[in-house]
Amino acid sequence: MTLNDSFLQKFAFINRETLDRINIDPLQTGGLLTEAARQAHMEWGDGYSICDFCAGVLDQIKKPPIHDFVHQALPEFLGCDEARVTNGARESKFAVMHSIGKPGDWLVLDGLAHYSSYVAAERTGMNIKAVAHSGSPEYYLDPEGYGAAIEEVIKESGKPPALALVTYPDGSYGNVPDAGKIASICHEYDVPLLLNGAYAVGRMPVSAKEIGVDFIVGSGHKSMAASGPVGVLGVSEEYAPVVLRKSIHNKVKEVELLGCTARGATVMTLMASFPEVVKRVRNWDQEVENARWFSSRLEDMGFIQRGQKPHSHDLMFFEAPRFYEISQNVKNGRYFLYRELKSRNIHGIKSGLTKYFKLSTFGLGKEKLGTVADAFEDILKKYENV
Ligand SMILES: *Cc1c(COP(=O)(O)O)cnc(C)c1O
Repeated sequence: MTLNDSFLQKFAFINRETLDRINIDPLQTGGLLTEAARQAHMEWGDGYSICDFCAGVLDQIKKPPIHDFVHQALPEFLGCDEARVTNGARESKFAVMHSIGKPGDWLVLDGLAHYSSYVAAERTGMNIKAVAHSGSPEYYLDPEGYGAAIEEVIKESGKPPALALVTYPDGSYGNVPDAGKIASICHEYDVPLLLNGAYAVGRMPVSAKEIGVDFIVGSGHKSMAASGPVGVLGVSEEYAPVVLRKSIHNKVKEVELLGCTARGATVMTLMASFPEVVKRVRNWDQEVENARWFSSRLEDMGFIQRGQKPHSHDLMFFEAPRFYEISQNVKNGRYFLYRELKSRNIHGIKSGLTKYFKLSTFGLGKEKLGTVADAFEDILKKYENV
């Protein structure tokens, strides 16, 4: 009855109204496809398209060159011994947690960790201890907090946590913690450390070996210009036999990857963008400079940037007392900012937010960032007397 033609038609091709706007949504700035990835998306969109020449192991496929991508390019890019493509950062984290931790074991993570770290640990059956941060306005994460949290776990459970995790940077304030220091502290207790680089890998230079972490995780659709869902996982030689162990039932399939992960357009867009992603990471200093410049323009208008200052990442959190005030005094006020930005062809601040919001300057360049800053100024002026 409901599945008649006219009802079904609503699921057919749908235009994306935000496609041509200037996008400052932190979720989206690093995931815009490159031209090569856009073509790959069309070419490889059919289901299981990469399996034409697969002999049973995804990362051994030579044509297209998944093998060289996974076994040569990714380990060098991530600074790790072994790498795999997964279905996302959370799947990468779950693979590590599920192989390293057992139900009842403890995970220590930073107080700004992403919900997906919590959910992955929960699915594993691990208990969680969060390392406190300093709170507003800086939300600073003291590496020594990891030592204290590990001590607490030892006192309460009789043994060290199975794993520690640090979010680098966190997804709320874009703070880049001292992961090297955290790694040394964890290793004093023989606790392996996972670096959640969902907002780092593909945007900024990051190397598991240089920082000294045992696992590194990235998100293709967040930060590597891929369609996704797709992610990357880097593992050290020491833990590779555990995390990448093979099935007893099928000798070539890796258990934590459920035998096979990204198997079509997702991994092909990840690969197609990779040459440009490698290049854009080299441009990171300019991105940081752009973020700082944008932040100072907004602060000059009376907005307050929370989190690390000066900032070292394109993801930034702002407090906007004037926008909040305006929202209280105009009709349908909660949505005034979204409407005003939309009418200026700018997208990415969540609809309904005015008092606090986050945004990203990644990849926009000075000119577009200038347009966005001018729009903010223009909106303030428009409501000057409200
Ligand atoms: C976006 C995000 C994730 C989730 O990434 P997926 O690839 O979608 O699983 C995990 N951690 C942080 C910090 C994030 O910002």
